[in-house]
Amino acid sequence: MVTAVVGANWGDEGKGKITDMLADQADIVIRFQGGANAGHTIRNGYGKFALHTLPSGVFHPEVVNIIGNGVALSVDKIAEELKEIESRGVPAPRLMISDRAQIVMSYHVLFDTLEEARLAGKSFGSTKSGIAPFYSDKFAKIGIQVSELADMDTLREKVEGILVKKNIMLKYLYHHDELKTDDIMAELVRYREILKPYLADTTAYLSRAMKEGKTALLEGQLGTMKDPDHGIYPMVTSSSTLAGYGAVGAGVAPYEIRRIVAVTKAYSSAVGAGEFVSEIFGDEAETLRKRGGDGGEYGATTGRPRRVGFYDTVASAYGCRLQGATDVALTVLDVLGYLDEIPVCVAYDIDGRVTTDFPTTTELKRAKPVWEKLPGWKCDIRGIRRYEDLPENCRKYVEFIEEKIGHPITMVSNGPAREDIIYRNR
Ligand code: GDP
Repeated sequence: MVTAVVGANWGDEGKGKITDMLADQADIVIRFQGGANAGHTIRNGYGKFALHTLPSGVFHPEVVNIIGNGVALSVDKIAEELKEIESRGVPAPRLMISDRAQIVMSYHVLFDTLEEARLAGKSFGSTKSGIAPFYSDKFAKIGIQVSELADMDTLREKVEGILVKKNIMLKYLYHHDELKTDDIMAELVRYREILKPYLADTTAYLSRAMKEGKTALLEGQLGTMKDPDHGIYPMVTSSSTLAGYGAVGAGVAPYEIRRIVAVTKAYSSAVGAGEFVSEIFGDEAETLRKRGGDGGEYGATTGRPRRVGFYDTVASAYGCRLQGATDVALTVLDVLGYLDEIPVCVAYDIDGRVTTDFPTTTELKRAKPVWEKLPGWKCDIRGIRRYEDLPENCRKYVEFIEEKIGHPITMVSNGPAREDIIYRNR
């Protein structure tokens, strides 16, 4: 049986914490999409960690951690993260990497960087981790699957072919030095040595594990708004962020995914460019940004200040629906305790037409928020463990959101630590 933990919004909803918490009850934790371009922040007994590539189960010694076939493997980053957690006293994790996953090459990072520079002001706000060029190559069938590292002669021929195309782009579009086959092969040899201890047929492992009744957690990156099909295209990421894609990116039967926990933050934040209807600006935004998350709303990977706004029930209802949420975890509720009144975006006004249906990007660009204001609770709710003990206005806020998004809020997170969680029976 598989549980997916995924984002209902723009990412940074606090999935890392919820996954880390649920990993306690799981035998296996799996990453199924994305790469080192985003990150989870996890706080536990070992300290505070920003994970970009490793599954959140690495802090649980009994958990098998799997990097699935759908993930973009930044091999050096995986090695760095393993070293970092081990140097901070975490026991060496049990880690398996799919032999069908593909590798983010140094030239993917190079192309990402050069393209962002070429686009200048019109860029996608890429983190320059090579993710878009990586997935482009994967689907153009010129990616490098880790299984190919077992036959370096054949791989060398393939690399020569790839470089013909890459070098034309480098020379004529970017006016950059050309790549050499020997350098790329040396890079691949290095990756082979790093990956060797972890490679496995992870789908066969998972199929056996499912038959034995084991439980697995699928760990999503980013959120619905960043999905290439259902998000705010083109300001999206390059692999699907939806729970449904978990079946593909991890290689499990779709019917094994029985529980889908969509994580949504009690206010909104987004990194990079793109439509964000409930965004706020100026001092109001700066206050929320500073108080937000765990030490402010700044990117876990990039340190960039995040754009912030109030809760958007239109985007979140859509976000939960596309994820197929069976459960919703509402996070970072404690942060809102300073507000006298809490605005919530409950509809969009598009050229005078008021709607609660989340539109395509073309219409979204013209959408204006329709606000409703709820009374604040004006106190610190950290440390509360029972839903009934939350201030009345706080419960009203949770129930208002639940009613608007149409999916049950079964968990409320009121602090960054693993124990800062309130379960609700719905
Ligand atoms: P993820 O990518 O979805 O895991 O999100 P991030 O880790 O980038 O951002 C979530 C931030 O909020 C992290 O700094 C978490 O430690 C923090 N966080 C998670 N849940 C809570 C919560 O309930 N309250 C507070 N104050 N911070 C939280």
